[in-house]
Amino acid sequence: MTGRCLHRPRGLRRRAPGDVFPWRRTVRTKAAVLTGPRQDWDVVDLELDGPGEGEVLLRLEAAGLCHSDEHLKYSEDARFPVVGGHEGAGVVEKAGPGVSHVRPGDHVVCSFIPVCGHCRWCSTGRTFLCDQSPDLVGAMRDGSFRFHGDGLDFGAMDSLGTFSRHAVVSANGCVPVDKEVPFGVAALLGCCVPTGWGAAVRVAEVRPGDLVVVFGCGGVGSNAVQGAVGAGAGQVVVIDPVRAKRDFASRMGATAVHADVESAADDIATSTRGVGADVAIVTAGVVDARIVSSAFGVTRKGGTIVLIGAHDRSDELTVKLPGTLLTVESKRVVGSLYGGCNPRSDIPLLVRMYKEGKILLDELISAEYRLDDIRQGYADMHAGKNIRGVIVHSG
Ligand SMILES: [Zn+2]
Ligand SMILES: [Zn+2]
Repeated sequence: MTGRCLHRPRGLRRRAPGDVFPWRRTVRTKAAVLTGPRQDWDVVDLELDGPGEGEVLLRLEAAGLCHSDEHLKYSEDARFPVVGGHEGAGVVEKAGPGVSHVRPGDHVVCSFIPVCGHCRWCSTGRTFLCDQSPDLVGAMRDGSFRFHGDGLDFGAMDSLGTFSRHAVVSANGCVPVDKEVPFGVAALLGCCVPTGWGAAVRVAEVRPGDLVVVFGCGGVGSNAVQGAVGAGAGQVVVIDPVRAKRDFASRMGATAVHADVESAADDIATSTRGVGADVAIVTAGVVDARIVSSAFGVTRKGGTIVLIGAHDRSDELTVKLPGTLLTVESKRVVGSLYGGCNPRSDIPLLVRMYKEGKILLDELISAEYRLDDIRQGYADMHAGKNIRGVIVHSG
């Protein structure tokens, strides 16, 4: 048996670049895209291939405006054009062959970490490191693209592209959720909630009585605060230059808030008699060497510094620390992807905690935008106006 399809005699139709599955039904969609480095978001009409094996077609209802999508603009590694968006939730419209754990009509959270279930990391309980994790090219696993327009293949942020009304994604990244969970909340469960909450609970393993300092209180930082509070931290100190974010941190359970590192460092030194914080979690929108050094400086001997977030350039040296002190003070500097969470078990867990009122998620959504207003949404994020802005897809 050859690989040749019996229903499509060779030569019947010329296969155009990107036209990988021409026999599938094409869906038209509207999406926010970046067409090149340092370009702003444009909203365009695109064509979308139907789902292939192991994929699903989603009708997206909500998408979070995460800083990571903005980082794409300045990334040296990104491929353009690309459909943005990696926080999202919606409804399964069609499932491709081999998809069994979700079906049409299911409400799902899009995790940008697909879970293959077979690789070394999945088989040892660390699915957030799954080998199927996407790169910045934004293609599907087989190297092909699902979004097309103007004769070009469009990549998708984290192989999702939630800034589109419709998207075709790996079913391995779809986590079904109860239908009563609002789509906006479900969208945030795809990235900022597990990333922040897990940094405190799963990665730093905050213990009762700990002093935890959180750098930055946006969508990720707010959830790091909630995670630390829930794990029993005695004091949660938040540093953010934006007044509204400091106020929000207090609502989330922070015991002290500061506009700058210097006043926070004084506070931590006083309240620990010079010992320092047990845990520092760095969630700033743009992480640089100065912030990481500050986190290192306020953390006690044997303490843990957790790094989340990114610089616009992935090759930027954002960690420049005195290695001798790192050694003699036995500190741990830990990178944290997805808060060390396993999407298939931790997203349902977080939904349960949300329903029980043990984690606040509705409160994180500070503004909603139409897709056409995405530039305004990101302008508001940069101006410090939002904890999390959410795009509500419609029509
Ligand atoms: Zn994100
Ligand atoms: Zn895997």
